[in-house]
Amino acid sequence: MYNFDLTNIASLVIGILYFLILGVVIRRGSLRDWTGRLLALYITAACLLELARVASRVGWLPFLTDAVLVQTVLYGTLILSLLFLLTTRSFLRLKGSVSVWFGLAAAWLIILPILESNWLPLPEWVLSNPLWLNVGRGTAFGAMVVGWGIFMLSATFSTVIVYARMRQPLHRNRIAYWVLALELIIGGAALFFVTIDVRFEPLSSGLYLLGALSAAYAVLTHRLFDMRQAMRRVVSYLTGTFLMIVLYSGAFVIAHYLFQTIPGYNPWLIGIALALILSIFFDPLLRLIRRLVQRLFMGRGYSASSTLREYSTSISNILALEQLATVAVGLISEALEIRHGSLFVVHHEEEKVEGEGDYFHLRGVRGMGMGEDQVLFDLPASNPVAGHMRQSYSPLTQYDVDLHPDFQNITPEEREWFISLNADVYVPIYAKGEWIGFLALGSKQSGSRYFDDELVLLSTLADQTAVALENARLFEDLRARTVEIEQLNEDLAEANRELILMDQAKSDFIDIASHELRTPLTQVRGYTDILKEMIDANSLTPKSGGKLTQGLKKAAEHLEEIINTMFDVAQIDTATLELTLFPEPIASIVNDAVSTWATALEERNLTLTVEGLANLPVTLADSKRLVQAFAHLIQNAIKYTPDGGQIQISGHMREWTLPQDQSIEIVVADTGIGIAAHDLERIFEKFYRVGDSLLHSTGKTKFMGAGPGLGLTIARGIIKAHDGSIWAESPGRDEEICPGSKFHVVLPVRLHS
Ligand code: ADP
Repeated sequence: MYNFDLTNIASLVIGILYFLILGVVIRRGSLRDWTGRLLALYITAACLLELARVASRVGWLPFLTDAVLVQTVLYGTLILSLLFLLTTRSFLRLKGSVSVWFGLAAAWLIILPILESNWLPLPEWVLSNPLWLNVGRGTAFGAMVVGWGIFMLSATFSTVIVYARMRQPLHRNRIAYWVLALELIIGGAALFFVTIDVRFEPLSSGLYLLGALSAAYAVLTHRLFDMRQAMRRVVSYLTGTFLMIVLYSGAFVIAHYLFQTIPGYNPWLIGIALALILSIFFDPLLRLIRRLVQRLFMGRGYSASSTLREYSTSISNILALEQLATVAVGLISEALEIRHGSLFVVHHEEEKVEGEGDYFHLRGVRGMGMGEDQVLFDLPASNPVAGHMRQSYSPLTQYDVDLHPDFQNITPEEREWFISLNADVYVPIYAKGEWIGFLALGSKQSGSRYFDDELVLLSTLADQTAVALENARLFEDLRARTVEIEQLNEDLAEANRELILMDQAKSDFIDIASHELRTPLTQVRGYTDILKEMIDANSLTPKSGGKLTQGLKKAAEHLEEIINTMFDVAQIDTATLELTLFPEPIASIVNDAVSTWATALEERNLTLTVEGLANLPVTLADSKRLVQAFAHLIQNAIKYTPDGGQIQISGHMREWTLPQDQSIEIVVADTGIGIAAHDLERIFEKFYRVGDSLLHSTGKTKFMGAGPGLGLTIARGIIKAHDGSIWAESPGRDEEICPGSKFHVVLPVRLHS
């Protein structure tokens, strides 16, 4: 006997509807990911449970007795709650192991039968009592409710936490559907637990079904209908209707009160007239209410046309990128009441590393609330976001980047960067069909999403920005180019100056070389002429031959010396003097320099004393070069001091220097003719010598013997190459009184190069 009452028909319909939802889940291809699979499993289980109820009640399946059905519902509800918890965790993308939940479910599935079958070691008289049987059943039922409660509470808790943490309205909207699903399922189950009445079963199952429907909608649909908007509409309509009823009733009562004494009064007529009047006002009134509700939910609103006008006039003349970013983002945030936003400039770059492909160089221009580390990023052209931005000409939401299957293949690093921008929507900017920038806009102050009309407005604003951005980019390029050209110009001028100096040095070199080389060359010619004559006259003896070759050798050495000096000067001029640095005691350097002139000092009867050098520290120096420099100073002291005079070389540490830049000072003092004040600096110039500049070198150590005017130039060059300094001091020049001169050399103490 089939018993098809309303309850069974309702259960059957619910079962079929579950089946249909399952069909949609499978057809939409949602089984590809875990959320879809778990949801399908949940729906299948819920569907089977519902059909089992009908089958048991109607008696289709004989083995499904009442007692078996109770157990099936008991275990089924528990399993459903576990499945829903797992689906929730997957939907919310919660990481972490789910084995603990499986463990808990397994424990429950063991506890339940124990409780139910009264396996507890109770005495026979207790077990035989039907009351105790019920108690056992009751405990099992209680345990199931507790297990169910744990699973559903955990699902609710996770959902609420994720919802509370989420800032982006689109994500919040998606989770709101899950909250709704949870509320419906919990409501349905609670109804069942509280009533345990077959009559309420269809209502409870209906709520369950609606819960599954809400969950399936959230999982299957990417663009979910905005729940806030739906709520807004409902609130507007309800408020509007309520106001209408109040108005109508109020007006009717007043009219009735006023006109009832008039003869021929008919309340029906008043009612119809009032209804007519109100029907005219219904539409504007509803619109007003809707606007008020809108304002309550979303802030004050904006006018697209005036925003557009203000925007295009404000940005059209801006040439600086920073200013453009500030003004553009500022105007947009003012109109749409957004919290923050920034402008990014995009450069398409060719492949740099082979195999990596082209990429887009994204550079953030300071706008509102952009962090330091978000300024630069290289996005490969193969990235789906780049692909969308290049081609689609429409704004992209972070919600799409997070959830849409098209953007699943973004690398974690790229995803991380986009998340760090904290933007809700990206509005690409194009110029001549090329992607040149984008606006990254944060959430709105009202917390609501970006609606379609706003996205259209943003696209239009982005189009307006394109020209200004292109101009600003060109202007920035131009500015960079100008700086580059200025730098190049400066480099060129510097090179030119160096060329002039080198040219000057070359002519000086030729002048002096021809001048200086003449003496030894004349000697060479003279000796070779004599040699030839002697050979012709056959009068060359070993003795005279030896003398002549000795003369030739001296002249050649002189030539070599002049050439070396010239070469040193050339190196100093072009700053190519290379030093070979070793730690050296300054005393040994000075001693080597002094020993070069031992014979000359003796010939000229000059006394040379050295003092205070032994205790000076070791320093990094090119000893050969420093010996050369000091040798020049000693040579000059010898040359410009009359016979019998004195030369004193003394050294000490400079007292006022800091420990890290200690330096040594060495003074070469003589009792010679001195130097005029105006010559003190000039004597260090190349080829400068006091007196007639065209005098030939006349001996190296003779009193007042002229040299090429290069000794001090070389000495200063060497000292400077050691980061030191050299200068001359003298009371003045007087060949009679001989006031003497002092040459100071200061060298830094270096232990590491
Ligand atoms: P030179 O080859 O002529 O010695 P230097 O460059 O060594 O060239 O010296 C340049 C000039 O500086 C000398 O011609 C000389 O007039 C002057 N001078 C150098 N040292 C002394 C000194 N100790 N006393 C006086 N005059 C000096």
